[in-house]
Amino acid sequence: MKSKQMKINLATHYGMCFGVRDAIQKTHEIAQTGSAAVLGELVHNPVVRQNLDDAGVSAGTLDDDPGSIAADAVIFTAHGVADSVRKSWSESGKEVFDTTCPLVRKAHRSLECLVLAGFKPVVIGRYDHVEVRGLVTDFPDAVVVLDEADFSEIPGPWDKIGVVSQTTQPVTHVEELVSKLRASRPAAEVRFIDTVCQPTKDRQSALQELAAKCDTIVVVGGSNSNNTRQLAVKAEGLGCRSFHVESPDDLKFSWFVKAENVGVTAGTSTLDETVQAVVRRLEKFSAEKRRMELFDTLKEIA
Ligand code: SF4
Repeated sequence: MKSKQMKINLATHYGMCFGVRDAIQKTHEIAQTGSAAVLGELVHNPVVRQNLDDAGVSAGTLDDDPGSIAADAVIFTAHGVADSVRKSWSESGKEVFDTTCPLVRKAHRSLECLVLAGFKPVVIGRYDHVEVRGLVTDFPDAVVVLDEADFSEIPGPWDKIGVVSQTTQPVTHVEELVSKLRASRPAAEVRFIDTVCQPTKDRQSALQELAAKCDTIVVVGGSNSNNTRQLAVKAEGLGCRSFHVESPDDLKFSWFVKAENVGVTAGTSTLDETVQAVVRRLEKFSAEKRRMELFDTLKEIA
């Protein structure tokens, strides 16, 4: 009898990156030394937030009045902040800790270098994403573009354009957009520094390999995590059915009735334990499918 047990495949690169892991660890260490508030979402992950709540870490925002924050220390998230914001909080009387990922710092320094070399700043990314806000805050004329339609925001007279990217944008999208920008501004010098981070690139390319052998992809991560969303979009683009879930409780058995090869990946802010819990739930679904098939076969024989 042919088994229809659903096969579950994990991506070769998935889940939490070193930048997020380090930020979480550092925040828990800081919390053990006194009262602390994270300014923003440390990472876009509800389980991480709950763990921080349990450790007594309070939540604030970069826009808060320092006087309204009861904690003695404040913590910048892995997404980074503008230098002016860092300076302002350093002068606020609060003790300041910074968990900015080194690869986000690289994006900041790259943009600074371009501007110092006389290029007008353009950032590829989501205008309202905290990392992008941090990148552009110190450059009032910076333009944020997400697709070709946004090129109209770039002033016509700009003849030297310096481009960096939000670290979690798909690198293929970024490279295509830079080529289109060059084509649309043939008279301008467009200098591009690739600031998409390696963990994002690894997860995107691993997804490509995974999609080649799967009909369905489950992407695990916070609903507002940019790179998790990008993985789900890419999986659809590669011809798979894709489902973005935050936890195993979001999975529905009906999604997998016809699935034979299910791939699992996760965004860079997703905890290993959440991915493992999703895999375990999928294994239960697989066992249930097998049981149902045996039942049908027995009915046919009877
Ligand atoms: S996604 Fe990339 S840039 Fe962001 S924290 Fe992780 S390693 Fe750093």
